[in-house]
Amino acid sequence: MERLQKVLAQANIASRRKSEEIILEGRVKVNGVVVSELGFKVDKKDKIEVDGKPIELAEHLYFLLNKPTGYVSTTSDEKNRKTVIDLLDDEHKNIRLYPVGRLDFDTAGLLLLTNDGDFTNRLTHPEHEVEKEYLARVEGIVIRKKIVQLRKGVRIDDNYLAIPKAVQLVELNKVHQSTLLSITLTEGRNKQVRKMFEAIGHPVKKLTRVRYDFLTLDGVERGTYRPLRIHEVKKLY
Ligand code: URA
Repeated sequence: MERLQKVLAQANIASRRKSEEIILEGRVKVNGVVVSELGFKVDKKDKIEVDGKPIELAEHLYFLLNKPTGYVSTTSDEKNRKTVIDLLDDEHKNIRLYPVGRLDFDTAGLLLLTNDGDFTNRLTHPEHEVEKEYLARVEGIVIRKKIVQLRKGVRIDDNYLAIPKAVQLVELNKVHQSTLLSITLTEGRNKQVRKMFEAIGHPVKKLTRVRYDFLTLDGVERGTYRPLRIHEVKKLY
């Protein structure tokens, strides 16, 4: 038996807090009867409806994590470094969640985690061309000519021509001699952003993924995560 708000959150209806509100608002029925108390316990056999719609008990889980630097995006590490799984609550640590693609140890930002292999395969397949936007703080002042060069594409990995979807200058910092840029890619070669900036002579000092398709880090603090809503999962598929 589980508390109703926990079941709603696990079914990706809303966060635990928001699920409590939904219950208190009298929008939830269990076996046809409105339940507006938070302690109510249900089990798998119970028919739960929110706003008149039956909920699907999610066997798959999907999370959006705001990864800090200093974590590997694998589930274990032979060098014994911290992994993104270490950032999860105990109840999610044993579900065998895997990252969708990778972020470097030194890269921060948006990383999806799921136990749905089909979802991962689809999103990481090159044909899917999901937009991934990064904020890159690079060494030196990047002049316009270099941005144009980057937009046309640069050679990385033994002559592969890497063409970004978009590059925008965000800020020049003359005091610290660095430049902040936004770069959007639809592919994800190993260390691609770092290699692309290296290729124009401006090594990356700091890298953050700020967007994955339509998903952003809004409301998700560094080192924390939230479940994806059902409509978000459907939109990504
Ligand atoms: N590009 C990189 O260089 N590193 C990342 O972590 C992601 C994209």
